[in-house]
Amino acid sequence: MLLEDFLVKIGEKIPLQLACEWDNVGLLVEPMEKFQIKRIMLTNDLTEKVMDESIVKNVDLIIAYHPPIFRPFKSICQSNWKERIIAKCLVNKIAVYSPHTALDAIHGGINDWLLGPFKCSNIRPVEMSTQKPKFQYQIHLNDGEKQESFIFDQLKAMNIPAQINKSHGLIYCNGDILPIILDKINKQGTILSSITSCQKWPILREGMGRIGKLSEPITINQIVSTLKTNLGLDRIRLALADNHADDTMIHSIGVCAGSGSSILRQIRPSIDFFITGEMSHHEVLDAIHSGTSIALCEHSNTERGYIRNVLYDYFVENFSSLSISMSEVDRDPLQIV
Ligand SMILES: [Zn+2]
Repeated sequence: MLLEDFLVKIGEKIPLQLACEWDNVGLLVEPMEKFQIKRIMLTNDLTEKVMDESIVKNVDLIIAYHPPIFRPFKSICQSNWKERIIAKCLVNKIAVYSPHTALDAIHGGINDWLLGPFKCSNIRPVEMSTQKPKFQYQIHLNDGEKQESFIFDQLKAMNIPAQINKSHGLIYCNGDILPIILDKINKQGTILSSITSCQKWPILREGMGRIGKLSEPITINQIVSTLKTNLGLDRIRLALADNHADDTMIHSIGVCAGSGSSILRQIRPSIDFFITGEMSHHEVLDAIHSGTSIALCEHSNTERGYIRNVLYDYFVENFSSLSISMSEVDRDPLQIV
């Protein structure tokens, strides 16, 4: 399969425009034009051990959930482990693709999976993703049907990239076309009612973090036990809120895969329990003093199960002409001993 065809197909499942603005997602390493792929390997992190595994497996494309290139490189040298990995990718003709926060945001993505085992209603993202409008500006004419119709016909004849809504007297266009249209309107002496910039609009089921109301309240002990089963962990870290005990009934849960402090700040103290990978000591203190108990499962432990099970199955089902494998050496660097 051509890498470019793969990118089109995966883009339909995981739209990259849903990723956070600060993120670096998509195709990060492309060894050559018209690159053919046969073997794909999935990993949470592209460490040096994972890189060596991909070379042994003769992989053509690594799907690395976390982007291995984030800040710009000034060199690709052997003295830095991240640069060594990119050098190995290029020497061994291995492409790298990273979905990261786009995969957190999608409906049915990592955060939905993390909240999935808990029977919740009213599930919604904490930070809703937004859809960009097709055009930047809306021009509203207010000059009677005849005059407006004349302008609309003229614009149509010019064949410029603008959208016309005759019945409401509206023209939609981008900034580069706006002066041309305004010039036309001025020359005709048509009365302008307003020019407004088109706003992004929220997407209801997609975005960062998730919050849900438990259909039936459960105890903190039950949450911890369910969480360990879902993530396949023997131990997690638990911080009880000042007014909570192990058998306190919990009514609402928030989740954020990876590092969840910024998401928690937006919903505290409206939820009783929050699940994430990592938070600092002081962020945990803030949470428990405002009535939210915290479960910390270590950063990538809140992500890897989705990659290993849900995303892997998606690839096997939807890319049957390709060989799909999951890294066997990828793991969270931290362990509770
Ligand atoms: Zn992460």
